[in-house]
Amino acid sequence: RTVYVNGQYLPEQEASVSVFDRGFLFADGVYEVTSVLGGKLIDFAGHARRLQRSLGELEMRSPVEEDELLEIHRELVRLNEIEDGLVYLQVTRGAPADRDFAYPPEDTEPTIVLFTQSKPGLAESPAAKTGIKVVTIPDARWARRDIKTVQLLYASMGKMMAKKAGVDDAWMVEEGQITEGTSNNAYIVKDGKIITRELSTDILHGITRAAVLRMAQEAQMQVEERGFTPEEAKEADEAFVTSASTFVMPVVEIDGTPLGDGTPGPIAKRLREIYLEESRKVAI
Ligand code: PMP
Repeated sequence: RTVYVNGQYLPEQEASVSVFDRGFLFADGVYEVTSVLGGKLIDFAGHARRLQRSLGELEMRSPVEEDELLEIHRELVRLNEIEDGLVYLQVTRGAPADRDFAYPPEDTEPTIVLFTQSKPGLAESPAAKTGIKVVTIPDARWARRDIKTVQLLYASMGKMMAKKAGVDDAWMVEEGQITEGTSNNAYIVKDGKIITRELSTDILHGITRAAVLRMAQEAQMQVEERGFTPEEAKEADEAFVTSASTFVMPVVEIDGTPLGDGTPGPIAKRLREIYLEESRKVAI
């Protein structure tokens, strides 16, 4: 596989980052994941915009302009012959001479790394046909979840808690309400209305979330942005999650309670179709 590191396209075995890199020592870095369908990038502009926002919130310098970033994404997709899959991008505050909590001098070069992952048939995932099962767990993350940092340890722990419980993923709960999934935004549907937590620093502002809510409104579906409790979720007609790599994924069970008849709901299925169709049309 060919990867991109600080201006160079290299075989993955030859690519490296300093042991003093702040991404490694402090999780002082941000990332994006953009999916690829039919060799084209899904919502690149949305991901590029959120990257700038994350960098801005951390007073971190952007290593490349948006047009160059697009070129790097496209070149990696081409070089690695990605038909369906994703492009991972990470930017860190670079590798100063020594470990120090304070940010390094302004002229420290940021580190930028991109690589691809091939996932043939990404849009035809079998999980989308059966739906996934989730458990609820406490949300023990830091308080700036709107910044897409590489500090993902609690998300990993959450996935492991789900695995141990014999299910697919976890929904996190804070002050009695669901925040989001470990790596996705969470939704329930009740009496035809789509309910999802409003944007704040409590959740990641999903690029897929923004697109799906816009498409739902265009399709005359009702949307309400507010928090909801695990109890309300278990009484919902259906549920789903969204993320760049899973699109719209139906949720069929929460904490052992099946939703409706325990199969993917009609609104989740319809939104998945609309999202994939519309996104492919404008992919670049
Ligand atoms: N919330 C969290 C915590 C995530 O990690 C992700 C995916 N990285 C999302 C939501 C979904 O965001 P997006 O639709 O931009 O992939």
